[in-house]
Amino acid sequence: RPWDVRRKVRTTCPYCGTGCNFDLEVVGRPGAGEPGREEVIGVASASDGPVNGRHLCVKGRFGLSFIHHPDRLRRPLVKKEGRFVETSWEEAIALVAERFQAIRADHGGDAFGVLASAKATNEDNYLINRFARAVLGTNNIDHCARLCHASTVAGLAAAFGSGAMTNPIGDIAKSDFLLVIGSNTTESHPVLAQKLLQAIGRGTPCVVIDPRQTELAAAATNHLAIRPGGDLALLNALAHVIIAEGLSNQAFIEERTEGFAELQAAVADCTPEWAAPIAGIAPEVIRETARRYAKAERASIFYTMGITQKRTGSHNVMAIANLALLTGHIGKEGSGVNPLRGQNNVQGACDMGALPNVFPGYQPVTDPAVRAKFAGAWGVASADLAEQPGFTVGEMLEAARSGSLKAMLIVGENPVLSDPDSSHVVEALQQLECLVAVDIFLSETAQLAHVVLPACTFAEKEGTFTNTERRVQRVRQAIEPIGESRPDWRIMADLAAALGRPFDLEDPAAVMAEIARLTPSYGGVSHERIDRDGGLCWPCLSPEHPGTPRLHVDRFTRGKGRFHGVHYLPPAEATDGDYPLVLSTGRRLFHYHTGTMSRRTGLETIYPEEHLEMHPGDAAACGLVDGDWVCLSTRRGAIALPVRLTESILAGTVFTSFHFAEAAVNKLTIGVVDPVAKIPELKVCACRVERV
Ligand code: SF4
Repeated sequence: RPWDVRRKVRTTCPYCGTGCNFDLEVVGRPGAGEPGREEVIGVASASDGPVNGRHLCVKGRFGLSFIHHPDRLRRPLVKKEGRFVETSWEEAIALVAERFQAIRADHGGDAFGVLASAKATNEDNYLINRFARAVLGTNNIDHCARLCHASTVAGLAAAFGSGAMTNPIGDIAKSDFLLVIGSNTTESHPVLAQKLLQAIGRGTPCVVIDPRQTELAAAATNHLAIRPGGDLALLNALAHVIIAEGLSNQAFIEERTEGFAELQAAVADCTPEWAAPIAGIAPEVIRETARRYAKAERASIFYTMGITQKRTGSHNVMAIANLALLTGHIGKEGSGVNPLRGQNNVQGACDMGALPNVFPGYQPVTDPAVRAKFAGAWGVASADLAEQPGFTVGEMLEAARSGSLKAMLIVGENPVLSDPDSSHVVEALQQLECLVAVDIFLSETAQLAHVVLPACTFAEKEGTFTNTERRVQRVRQAIEPIGESRPDWRIMADLAAALGRPFDLEDPAAVMAEIARLTPSYGGVSHERIDRDGGLCWPCLSPEHPGTPRLHVDRFTRGKGRFHGVHYLPPAEATDGDYPLVLSTGRRLFHYHTGTMSRRTGLETIYPEEHLEMHPGDAAACGLVDGDWVCLSTRRGAIALPVRLTESILAGTVFTSFHFAEAAVNKLTIGVVDPVAKIPELKVCACRVERV
């Protein structure tokens, strides 16, 4: 009977970094979709998911019908006279190889830019990284971590030696104080948020710091409605109080840290009274929050892009690390610093070297010994691997606009909707001599490409994702590739072979074996071992090593924890008479990122249209009522969308998501970046709202 569930395939969710496990239910369905092919018809909870148990959020449970959506790319596309025409793989690969070869011969490797993908597997990303460095000859490789946690990678690496979440998700239940700052956890990491809500329900104090009263903020013990951009002032004031009131852990500071004097000097004047008008939080509330955090036995901090997407993003992260180092709330059960990674495999894409300054495992490209190691393994001369860090995504686009970058390979990313000031992104991509997009749908970015190569979804390939707690988990193939689509790792291998530098790697398990050989933190990871024993948290140094759920237990990755004296800077763009409101952007529960996947599922029926959240007081001042269509504009552009009035947003601030191309808010956001991490200030810019 074709409609019976024929089998279940255990795999890992392709949406957020929580990394929930579930079973894909696969049936034979002759005559529907792909004739005679098997089809994913649903999701069943995996009762033993290491992170989620049997829980799933609405995206994991009901957001997977994109796999069989009619818009799936089935054959390679080549643009001829402004229109896409289908072609064969042989022709498409030969065409890309010919164009890339010509550009490499004329302009060298650094004429290329490559974007890897937080949606792709570790094995895919590893080979995208190898393709960029060993085949094209450039370190110009980056991915969307530049837009979310580049500041975490920079800030936590400087403080602790590792830019990753320090504790496992299960430690939420072991904390006796929870501080959540700049994270709409209930919508962005719903199953993880459930664990925070359960802890609150058991009586664990939880302070949420956010300009909006999110669901988590409403449930928390205290909600501190911070002014957008006030984070660093508040964090420094918390450190000031902890030092001034003698609440710091002196034994920990002396034994395990360095640079305390630098911090002391930096926060000496950061009194709660100084921070209060900047952060919009009363001095006594700041004092009380500092006391509760410092006096807790086991305290954990959680944060996301409210902290990182600022021009002071890496300093914000260092200021959070300062709090943990001051109090010793690090390296223990229930005590740590937890950046919640956004996409399902953004941690893994970083681990696999989809960054311009490091090979896999954060091994610097500037280290000759590291270059020699990778060159040997990849069968190229050390001199063929570029010595200097390459361009970030923003720098690639700038170089494309100026004409020095000639070609880009963009795998599973959609910068036309996701990057700030996106009209400039379109201009830059249109300048390229050759743009190749690898994707599952003809995204807004792929539409600008010269060649589009159809990729598989997570349900059609083998591999691994690494979730936010550094757990490497299996992705398992449930169905055959749709149409002629191919997994990213194989597309990279095909392109490499066509360019004369074949990879000689048979399958994703062999790719992981190469990763393990070259990447110490993944040294003990293999598909076979994960299949047998379950997911592994890195560092996992050898086949016998058990993995490391908790970092920095006896020593920090860098040796001693490092304090940093960092100073408040206001947002780059101040409000004024022309643009009197602050625009902040984020996510919704029912959609994901640029909507490429989630808007091709039943979730679109539930949440078909975006709106602008606005405080009733601000709306009254603009003469608006709930449901009015408004023009939201900044110095960079304007979009139209309906307004929804809510008391849950701070007066003077408006909010919308970046999921909807029809209301593409990144046309409006600002391209100013953090000078260290090069992450844009997506969370704050000045805007105006008018009735359409
Ligand atoms: Fe997927 Fe994240 Fe939802 Fe879990 S919480 S089901 S990983 S989107």
